Formats: sequence, structure tokens, C-alpha cells
Amino acid sequence: MALNKSMHPRNRYKDNPPDFAHLASKYPEFQQHVQTSLLGRPVVNFKEPEAVRALTCTLLKEDFGLTIEIPLERLIPTVPLRLNYIHWVEDLIDGQKQLRRGIDIGTGASCIYPLLGATLNGWYFLATEVDDICFNYAKKNVEQNNMSDLIKVVKVPQKTLLMDALKEETEIVYDFCMCNPPFFANQLEAKGVNSRNSRRPPPSSVNTGGVTEIMAEGGELEFVKRIIHDSLKLKKRLRWYSCMLGKKCSLAPLKEELRKQGVPKVTYTEFCQGRTMRWALAWSFYDDVIVPSPPSKKRKLEKARKPLSFTLPEAGLKQLQTKASALSPMEGVTAFLEKSLTELRVLFKRVPCSKQEQSFLLTAVENTWIHGRQRRREQKRQLRELPRAPQSLQNTAATTAPCPSTSDCNAHVNVQEACSPEQNCQAQPEETREEPKEQTEAGLTGTLTVMDSNPKEGLATENNLPLQQPSSPATITPFLFKCLLNVMLEEKDVLVEMHWVEGQNKDLMNQLCTYLKNTLLRSIAK
Ligand code: SAH
Repeated sequence: MALNKSMHPRNRYKDNPPDFAHLASKYPEFQQHVQTSLLGRPVVNFKEPEAVRALTCTLLKEDFGLTIEIPLERLIPTVPLRLNYIHWVEDLIDGQKQLRRGIDIGTGASCIYPLLGATLNGWYFLATEVDDICFNYAKKNVEQNNMSDLIKVVKVPQKTLLMDALKEETEIVYDFCMCNPPFFANQLEAKGVNSRNSRRPPPSSVNTGGVTEIMAEGGELEFVKRIIHDSLKLKKRLRWYSCMLGKKCSLAPLKEELRKQGVPKVTYTEFCQGRTMRWALAWSFYDDVIVPSPPSKKRKLEKARKPLSFTLPEAGLKQLQTKASALSPMEGVTAFLEKSLTELRVLFKRVPCSKQEQSFLLTAVENTWIHGRQRRREQKRQLRELPRAPQSLQNTAATTAPCPSTSDCNAHVNVQEACSPEQNCQAQPEETREEPKEQTEAGLTGTLTVMDSNPKEGLATENNLPLQQPSSPATITPFLFKCLLNVMLEEKDVLVEMHWVEGQNKDLMNQLCTYLKNTLLRSIAK
């Protein structure tokens, strides 16, 4: 369950994965599919459709009191993933509060989204389906759980998505629609051909699903585009339109389509569970909707918000103040840091700030704070990995950076997203997608509005890096990292904080922080 840590925070399986041993002891039908691993742990073989089905039915019974039947030849939903989507819809519509109405496009034989949404939140659902077998099972599953008051299953023609389903009900405004679209464009895609690079392991689970369920002309991209075009006609008939995606690379073209069409509110998320990742996109024509932040931005903000810091106790500060002939302990520390940074040839620029604190933007172009073997090792790595400051940024002046301090130092960082070429652009069968965490962040490029050289310093070429004067806008400036350094008075002590902005890796900032701390403490102790 490698990705469970990143499940939706309200997902009941997040820190509490299904207890196979307990379930096996309680449900004989499930017990038949539980084996004991070499390590003596109870395991389920996700390559067997029967086992997947048994687990789904058992979890729905045990945790939601639902009794469902699903034929083996149709898509068997996995519960943690479906729950992640339901919880995200709750976030979009604040849906735990009052009666809400939703549409599930392609509900499947299980009718799982309506059954979960109605059970957890009392939501009303219009569930559509094109496939006869799915339609009949879905209706039966609704009836046998006494949910007919909340869930209406309708059979629709293949060509239709939202328009026809809503033809009869012209008055009602729906809060949302959700959809787990057919992912694949053709049989080969469905079988996973071309779907993974050679380093990836084979699918860890079976792809259960009938032809109309998992395949649509043009794959999910075209399917979702059709929903977008329906939404352009229906606009405010629904507060949120949403759709799940089996491939990360479907996100960018769909976001682009929404942008082109001028859709005002767009967000997306990722669903992590087991070894599977999925993505989802949502859009709205309402101005007053809550728009949850996309996960990559949240992660980046969280990371960047956590500064490295150390405190200098009041005791030694007086000494420092005297040494630097400074007016206050804070000024003493600041002067000391400026001197140290100059010696280290770290570029710095004062950022306008309140009186109680000092703030600097630091640009480290070479590693001068580690020594000997460690430095040589670092140099080799730098040569391989040195990022280049985007040319366009170097023209940007430094004058506008506001005080970063304890508030939001990310005001300066413009996060962009890109679908990197290495990204796997093929969908895989249900429960088989493994998207390494780093990959989801690999497309992020932080851009910085400040690029300045300290006139006092010559640029170091000691480590033979291809360094050039950063002041020339026509050149590409290499840098190791950029960060904000804040010096603040905290009661009588002085707090030094370093906020990451961008660069090779945060360890470099960590090293510099430790170096500055040690030199400061050494100087105080003298
Ligand atoms: N929602 C279910 C099933 C998803 S599979 C789950 O998450 O497990 C996709 C479903 O969409 C299939 O059952 C397929 O029959 C149905 N479908 C395909 N095209 C459709 C269309 N145009 N309108 C409604 N349903 C459609």
C-alpha cells in the first residue's frame, strides 16, 4: 500500500488498511481468496478477478453496510479509490452539509459512486449507463440496498453524455457530476501495450471490464472533451463538472481545452491508493464555488513554508553587537551574516522589511561552505545537475519583493506545471498504475522574480563551473539554489530562518544554514 499516505485525509483506509485476517474470519466467501504470503501475512491476489470482487463486496458490506452484486465480466471497482473521489467531490461542493444532487455518468454494474455518496452523505443521484448488463445490475444493486428514493438509474444512448440525461429535468440545478470514463482508445491500450516503459513492473492487478466500459473512441481524452462541450451548453445547470482520468498526461490538454473555452474555475487533483494513481479534473461556471488547491501546489507550498531555523540566545548576542559596533543585537547578527555571506561568495540582496526584522534574498552560485572530499563530490554533482536560470527571468528587477518573513515567502515563486516527456502517457488497467512521487513534482518549475549580483563580489570560478556575470541579461546564469534569509527578534533572542525558493536540492540550503549557525555560535563563544 505504497501510496496510502497520500490518500484523501478523510478516506477511512488512509491509516487503516483493510484487515484481511479479520475480514477472512468474518466472511467465508472472502476467506477463499485470502492466501498466506511467505512472510506469513494474509494476502489477496489482485490478478484474480474473483479475489478483487470478493474484496470489494466484503469491504462494502463491512464498512458501509452495502450488499452488491457484480458480474465478473464487468468492471470491478476498488473501494479506496472510489472513496477518494467521493471525498474530493465533498471538498468541491461542501457536500457533507445538506442534501446535494449529483450525476454519475457511466455508473457501472456496481453503481458504486451513487451507493457510496448516498450512504455517506445522503446525496441524491441520477446515474446513467449505456450498457444493458451494467444498467440491470446497477438497478438491482440500488433496489436491494433500499436506495431507490435517492438513486435513479437511467439507460442512455451511447452518443449522449449529459445533454440527453438532463433533457427531461429542465428545472433542477445539480451540484456536481462525476465520471469514471472509459480510459482506453483501443484493445491494445486496454491490454497495456505501450502503456509502460521497460523498467516498470508488470501490472499487479487484473483489468476487469467489458468493451464499452473501458473503451471509448479516442479514449478518455475524447470522452472528457465531450463532457466539456456538453458543459459549455449546460453551464450553470451544474455547479461542478468533474471527471476522473487514468493518465496523467490527459490533464494538460483538457486544462488547455477548458482555458480555451474560457471556463472560469478549474482545478484538479490526484488520487493515491495502493500502488495506483489516478487524476481528476473539475470545472465550474459559478463564481462563488470553493476551489480546492491542486495537490502539487499544496505540497510545494507546505514544503516551502517550512523554513530551516536556529535561535541565538540573548547571552552571546551582546558580544557580537560590540564586535560589529552595531546598534542592536539584531544588527550585530545581520552584520555578521552579511560578512560571512560575502566571504562565502553567496550573492545576497536586502529585501524591504519591517523594522523588527531583516530579510535577504540569497543566490548561491557555488558551494563554498563544505570542504575537501565532500566538496569535490559536490562539484561533480553540480556539473551534472546544475540548473540554469531561465533567461527571461534575469531581466526582472529585484525591487518588488515584499517582506517574506513568517508570512508567505511563496509570493515570489511562480509555480508552473508541465507534462514532462518522461511521464507515462498511457493508462493502465485499474489498480496497476504506479507513479513515483518524485515524478508528480518533476514537472514543477519555480521561477524567481529576483536575480541580482552583489557588486562587492567577484563571481567565483574556483570549481571550474561555467560561471558568468548574472547582471548580463543575455547570459545564462547558473546557480545552486536561492533562498530567503530572515533575521528576527524573538523576545530577547534572535531567530534566523531560511526559506527555500528554488534550486538543486534543499540539502544545500541545509548545509549553508548549519555552516552559518556554527560560525555564529563559534564567534559568540570566543
Ligand atoms: N462508475 C463505475 C464504472 C466505470 S466504467 C466505476 O467507477 O466503477 C465506465 C462506464 O461508463 C461503463 O459502465 C460504460 O458502460 C459506461 N459508459 C460508456 N459510455 C457511456 C455513455 N456515453 N453514457 C453513460 N455511460 C457510458
